[in-house]
Amino acid sequence: MHRPRLAGLALILCLAAAPAFAKAHKAAAPPPAPPPPDPVAVATGLRDKALNDPTAYDFVESLTTEVGPRLAGTVQAERGKDWALAKLKALGFTDVHAEPFPITAWVRGAESAEVTAPFPQKLMILGLGGSVPTPPEGIEAEIVLFHSYADLLAAAPGSLAGKIAVVTQPMPRTQDGSGYGWNNRARTRGPVEAARRGAIAYLTRSISPSDGRLPHTGKVWYVPDATKIPAAALGVPDAELIDHMALRGKPIRIRLVLNSTEIPNAPAWNLVGDIKGSSAPDEIVAIGGHMDSWDPGQGAIDDGAGMAVTAAAATLIGELPRHPRRTVRLVLFGAEEMDYASKPFADAHQGEASRYVAVSESDTGSGPLWTLSLPKGALDAPALKAVPSLMGPLRIIVADQPAQFSGSDFAELERTGVPAFSFRPDASRYFDIHHSADDTLNKVDRADLNQSTAAFAALVYLIADSDIDFRALAKGQPAPSRP
Ligand code: ZN
Ligand code: ZN
Repeated sequence: MHRPRLAGLALILCLAAAPAFAKAHKAAAPPPAPPPPDPVAVATGLRDKALNDPTAYDFVESLTTEVGPRLAGTVQAERGKDWALAKLKALGFTDVHAEPFPITAWVRGAESAEVTAPFPQKLMILGLGGSVPTPPEGIEAEIVLFHSYADLLAAAPGSLAGKIAVVTQPMPRTQDGSGYGWNNRARTRGPVEAARRGAIAYLTRSISPSDGRLPHTGKVWYVPDATKIPAAALGVPDAELIDHMALRGKPIRIRLVLNSTEIPNAPAWNLVGDIKGSSAPDEIVAIGGHMDSWDPGQGAIDDGAGMAVTAAAATLIGELPRHPRRTVRLVLFGAEEMDYASKPFADAHQGEASRYVAVSESDTGSGPLWTLSLPKGALDAPALKAVPSLMGPLRIIVADQPAQFSGSDFAELERTGVPAFSFRPDASRYFDIHHSADDTLNKVDRADLNQSTAAFAALVYLIADSDIDFRALAKGQPAPSRP
């Protein structure tokens, strides 16, 4: 880090000059303390510096090159943990540590699928995370095709007995990614709903607007009162192929082979590093992303980019000659994809939850960001009055509506009343790549990554250098007067 070294050098020079200075000006009063920096000017400087700063891209380039995919509970996740701890220390974070918790890890084995009748063809598939395996020889059965998840829900109990249920509902392309929320139920809940109706296996069209053939995985949610059936995602063109075959009116048979193993009590970690506050270090503004990633890709956009943006923003704040009043905490969550990381983090930080001023996770790719939602009442606070004009040059709109959610890993902490803010990226292309083998470094755009870093750095600095109390603002209490 350059700043401390320069500061140290300046101190040595000052000390060396001190005796002569003291002799010449024995009676002179000590120089007045410099006025505190204008927070908006500092935030503006951070924003502009971030636009040309290499830290975020270097972070994700290093991670994808030196570690690669990092499925929670695997040896590669452990390598990722070691890489991240070293990286955070090198970037100047303090109190860098890993908070361990056990998970049931899921590891993919060999997988294949093919149409065996009436028009035999191989299919591109990817097992869903957590799926139970098929028998070694696979499952071959006639399919029942549903063009929407709602159609599956409308099927009568027992109507799928002995069949493979296939849902080919397409996902619309939207700028805000809003098609994902409804559509991913076909992936997460579909296997349970199919099993309740008697199905012996489940296939869903990938939850993606892409026309590419690579399938997209993601977690399946089993429940105790439904049989766990093997489940996989079809490539989008493969799902369309089945739609076309169905138009011919003949029964369709598919053979599916899924292998996987589970590792009980596998280790996972949430990783934490701080940029200590200068005068209120016990008050925390926490940002971060998630360290784990699906196995087929490199975990570049999901969520190497989110970690890179938040790590770089905090690093730039840490390089300031004077840290903001409050601590900026970076959290890299260790098992988001299987939804294991949020509760251990909330449990580990339960005792200090009231000291978390605000949290935000970056987990929708590398940007560019296009909207910002703040906690209720925040824009009326003097400390944040400048936010719209700070975000304007980045082409980020400040939303009228308060933030509802800031990523799944802070969710448990938010449930205890911790306020959140949320940047929403342009997600037009995100789900083309998400959870597929195409999640690779060459999808990360440096300029977009830097725009995201600039936005996080400026906003997080302003919040961290203020004494704004979002909990009080939400209750309609007056904002503190200190800008
Ligand atoms: Zn993610
Ligand atoms: Zn993901």
